[in-house]
Amino acid sequence: MTPKEVLEFAKKNGAKMVDLRFTDFPGMWQHFSVPIEELTEESFEAGYGFDGSSIRGWQEIHESDMIIIPDPNTAVMDPFFEVPTLVLLCNVYDPITKEPYSRDPRYVAQKAEEYLKSTGLGDVAYFGPEAEFFIFDDIRYDTGSNYSFYFVDSIEGTWNTGREECPNLGYKPRHKEGYFPVPPSDKFQDLRTEMVMVLQQIGIKVECQHHEVATAGQAEIDMRFAPLLKMGDQLMWFKYVLKNVAYKHGKTVTFMPKPLFEDNGSGMHTHMSIWKGDTPLFAGDRYAGLSETALYAIGGILKHCKAVCAFTNPTTNSYKRLTPGFEAPVNLCYSSRNRSAAIRIPMYSPSPKAKRIEFRTPDPSCNGYLAFAAMLMAALDGIENRIDPGEPMDKDLYSLPPEELKDIPTTPATLEEALQALEEDHEFLMKGDVFTEDLISKWIEYKRENEADQVRLRPHPYEFFLYFDI
Ligand code: GLU
Ligand code: MG
Ligand code: MG
Repeated sequence: MTPKEVLEFAKKNGAKMVDLRFTDFPGMWQHFSVPIEELTEESFEAGYGFDGSSIRGWQEIHESDMIIIPDPNTAVMDPFFEVPTLVLLCNVYDPITKEPYSRDPRYVAQKAEEYLKSTGLGDVAYFGPEAEFFIFDDIRYDTGSNYSFYFVDSIEGTWNTGREECPNLGYKPRHKEGYFPVPPSDKFQDLRTEMVMVLQQIGIKVECQHHEVATAGQAEIDMRFAPLLKMGDQLMWFKYVLKNVAYKHGKTVTFMPKPLFEDNGSGMHTHMSIWKGDTPLFAGDRYAGLSETALYAIGGILKHCKAVCAFTNPTTNSYKRLTPGFEAPVNLCYSSRNRSAAIRIPMYSPSPKAKRIEFRTPDPSCNGYLAFAAMLMAALDGIENRIDPGEPMDKDLYSLPPEELKDIPTTPATLEEALQALEEDHEFLMKGDVFTEDLISKWIEYKRENEADQVRLRPHPYEFFLYFDI
């Protein structure tokens, strides 16, 4: 849409307000609204000011003024507000230099797309994330620094939410059997369908929705693949829509990767392919119907995976998911069949056009713009430097004896390990100035100081079980 078309679209839909949204450093939408009269064609150049110092990980207080400039291609009517409201996604700029802000995640996604084109290797990279999530009752408890709601079961040593389980367990999916019996075992068919319908209403194509393996209302809704920046935008809408539909029904949705001990976590397997013109570059006659280009892309992702994890698995909780036995990958290898490998090549592709790789490590706590950009940069590094991915591993890695596993590298065990990997390995991200030195060092500092250290420093409830009476 042009700015003029956006104004017409707003008028046609009776918009009274414009909600301006941008994505902060960790990956959450922030917003403010202006009356519709405040949106003119000039707004798409002049933008709107805000205080960047109050946004996590961004400007210092002495250089706090920033502006956001709406992207006219993102105009959508908000599906939840009672007063008709136009939503525009924005990019962040420095008001003095008028330069795009290097820590704006959406800008990183745009630069990654430009970098792909500049290499001449391809024109467009498609991403199809399968973001899993949990639906919980909205009990509105305070989880701040207060763990009163949780206690550790003294016999099992397991966590408990403090709510008594009803003695009649009829129609409750058994442990790890949530995938996927029909109702009444599945309690969320209509809720998931409502989420799908709202996504469709705002123009997002959905392929499938279902219950997932974990029994406590784990779910998955799959969007149709889209180019990198578009999918970054769609993932923001996806989280917003799912949370708001759930909230309306007295439920909450969490994208936290591992909310429950000893049950499956939530991954965000990401399908990925690169095209040049009408040619899908990942289809060929090599292993599992892949091209040599695809194998090199796999080589790049596996080589840089630990550093990439700092963006695709960016929370302390992410590493509680990446453990054996819960369908989450641990070993940095690839396979056409094996769901325990970090990269799987789906075999049911109906045509070369559908040929893609599935990177299984990411989880939905990531900032999609940064995560997809990091995946693409790792894949491109593999293609440019012809990085050999080694032999595929068509075995169940969870059950391999230790001697067979000893040479296969693993995903990082902690957020700190991933941040250290990023500290040591980030040249591939900086090509084309896609990720700047400033963004990378601030990301490491922000994640270390605000998350990894903060979790490490706090006594854990399970430590009370282990040590209180020592
Ligand atoms: N929940 C699993 C994970 O953490 C994935 C299950 C599946 O869809 O195969 O990655
Ligand atoms: Mg799944
Ligand atoms: Mg999958």
